[in-house]
Amino acid sequence: MSADAKEILKAARGQGTSSLDEPAGKELLASFGIRVPASRVVQGAAGLPEAIATLRPPYVLKVVSAEVIHKSDFGAVRVGLKNLAAVEQALAEIDTALNAKGIVAQRWLIEEMAASGLEVVIGGVVDPEFGPMIMTGLGGVFVEVMKDVSFRICPITRLDAVEMLAELRGAALFHGARGRTPVSTDTIIEVLLKIGGENGLLTRNADEIAEIDINPLIVTPDSATAVDARFILQRNMERG
Ligand code: ADP
Ligand code: MG
Repeated sequence: MSADAKEILKAARGQGTSSLDEPAGKELLASFGIRVPASRVVQGAAGLPEAIATLRPPYVLKVVSAEVIHKSDFGAVRVGLKNLAAVEQALAEIDTALNAKGIVAQRWLIEEMAASGLEVVIGGVVDPEFGPMIMTGLGGVFVEVMKDVSFRICPITRLDAVEMLAELRGAALFHGARGRTPVSTDTIIEVLLKIGGENGLLTRNADEIAEIDINPLIVTPDSATAVDARFILQRNMERG
């Protein structure tokens, strides 16, 4: 495991938290070579000008709060923000809406917007019987309504990853069905291996990680970017 990954998990353990927030989760993914959007965390509107100066528009703004798990349900994700003024306005609007629900946001994630593409989900769980398992499916209704997902026990091989994608009922979408641009299945396979392969993040850290949820991974003809990530940690983490 990379030094970074150890540090991130250790820091979370030190704080006694049972999950990693989105910035920490993305840092962990990045430490395993998985692409995430360039981003900054700010504590409020005052931090925005400096943060934005390091990022390329359009921007995405999200709240980072343990009270807001499914951010969209709270209207707490805004994409396609063109400039500082748009980001400031979005922050003020989200803040007001959250305040009305009794939530006081302390941290915000401002990040670059990934190029549009096909949304894929990659998940991981540590099953009491089978150990670490990896899951994938197509985003949105495919996973939520049609339950079109495939599972494997870790560690997976490259062939397993190829088959996981091929056996999805919606697999034709990868290859450009219904007038869509074909996307890179190779980049998805790489992410599956970086999570569930022999040296994968989940395979190597099943004693510390209970669940991984990358939803979505946005896949284009030449890249795959994890734009949302959530990790649940194992409870029994008395060690080091
Ligand atoms: P939620 O907590 O509601 O799942 P997400 O972080 O997944 O919030 O954001 C909601 C949606 O916004 C995503 O499914 C994706 O379509 C879009 N999105 C989020 N972040 C980005 C980004 N950096 N680039 C492009 N689209 C994004
Ligand atoms: Mg999400």
